[in-house]
Amino acid sequence: MSSKLENPSRLVTEAEYAIIGAGFAGLPTAYFLTKAGKRCVILEQESKIGQHASGRNAAFFRHFGEDVRMLTMAIESGRLLEEMGAKPLLRTTGSLLFGSPQRMDRFVKIAGNALECERLSRGDIVKRFSFLERGNFHEAIFVPADGVLNIKALLQLFVDGACGKGAKLMTDCQVVGVEEGMHGVSLKTKRGKINCRIVINATGAWSSSLAKALGGPVIPFTPLKRQLHKLRRPAWLQHSHPFFWHFEDHIYFRADGNYVLVGVCEEIPTTPGDEVLTKDYLERLKSRLQECCPQLATCKQVSSWACQRSFSPDRLPVVGWDPKRSWLFWVSGLGGQGVSLSAVLGKLASDRLLAGKDKLDDGDDFLSPARFT
Ligand SMILES: Cc1cc2nc3c(=O)[nH]c(=O)nc-3n(C[C@H](O)[C@H](O)[C@H](O)COP(=O)(O)OP(=O)(O)OC[C@H]3O[C@@H](n4cnc5c(N)ncnc54)[C@H](O)[C@@H]3O)c2cc1C
Repeated sequence: MSSKLENPSRLVTEAEYAIIGAGFAGLPTAYFLTKAGKRCVILEQESKIGQHASGRNAAFFRHFGEDVRMLTMAIESGRLLEEMGAKPLLRTTGSLLFGSPQRMDRFVKIAGNALECERLSRGDIVKRFSFLERGNFHEAIFVPADGVLNIKALLQLFVDGACGKGAKLMTDCQVVGVEEGMHGVSLKTKRGKINCRIVINATGAWSSSLAKALGGPVIPFTPLKRQLHKLRRPAWLQHSHPFFWHFEDHIYFRADGNYVLVGVCEEIPTTPGDEVLTKDYLERLKSRLQECCPQLATCKQVSSWACQRSFSPDRLPVVGWDPKRSWLFWVSGLGGQGVSLSAVLGKLASDRLLAGKDKLDDGDDFLSPARFT
């Protein structure tokens, strides 16, 4: 994925805020900071944006996440995306989430009055989607507000918004270390030094290794590998259909152009940047499909890829000031909902950065880095 605003030829040497990582953590943070009139530089080690999790995900805009508080945040994220003019980038197909009665009870309870959802029996579901007749499930909930985002366009919207207000995006610019000074820091990059006041760690799966390179305490994020596949799309699976997610069978799928995008919901611990498919990726795919939607098991597999989701120890994002280093701020651990929460977390990061470390008491906050120290 490339951006017309990349300027790899000239290195910016001064900035107020240096945001490291051009994904769904870093770009929205830059978007909202520049909107507030701040001078930012975004530093990306790759030659293009969206080379890792942010450009290689399933593109669901989903409300249910790791924690009840994520639901409120996803609702707010949807509102912010609409405010930014990103509504045309969201295809509101709804989602059909399958699971045990206990899980369904929990979802309905979490949704409360905040999010519309409809509980459906097996009979109701098969009546609407006859191709699920041989699937292994008892019931599901339908969430009408869920949908599918145009990932490339959304990343570009954040880049254009930030760069249009003066941010500079430097690609091929890996950050490798730091020197602390009286009034800020000097970041060492593969392309030279950049002096800045505040450094924002938005490096996804690399968040712990970057923190180590910057010195001082490290929050232990775990990168977990997941594999996605494209199959030839059968005519019965349509773009107007919701996305289908089997929580007990650990698989999801949706129509994607001429293809079906299928995710086998693995969580394979690995090292940052390991995007190699497992040896048994096709067997994993076939066996999961046999369980939940046997009709798809016979569709031709066209392509597959692996990427990483990165989790903090409690699996919730980390958005806030580093407790020890006054110049460091974290936007990391976006886990499996980073696309959906991109706008709300970017806005929150920007608000917390603008409030300043001294004026902000986020010690009890559930997203604060302080919870790990
Ligand atoms: C298979 C898969 C499916 C997913 N599906 C969904 C979904 O359907 N819906 C949803 O909401 N979320 C989904 N997610 C999660 C979502 O994609 C992530 O939460 C989100 O993209 C993380 O964004 P990020 O900016 O933190 O990380 P990244 O996108 O990895 O960005 C971090 C960037 O930092 C750069 N970087 C690292 N170290 C350095 C350095 N030292 N110097 C400079 N640059 C550096 C990297 O090159 C990278 O571009 C999925 C993730 C995966 C892997």
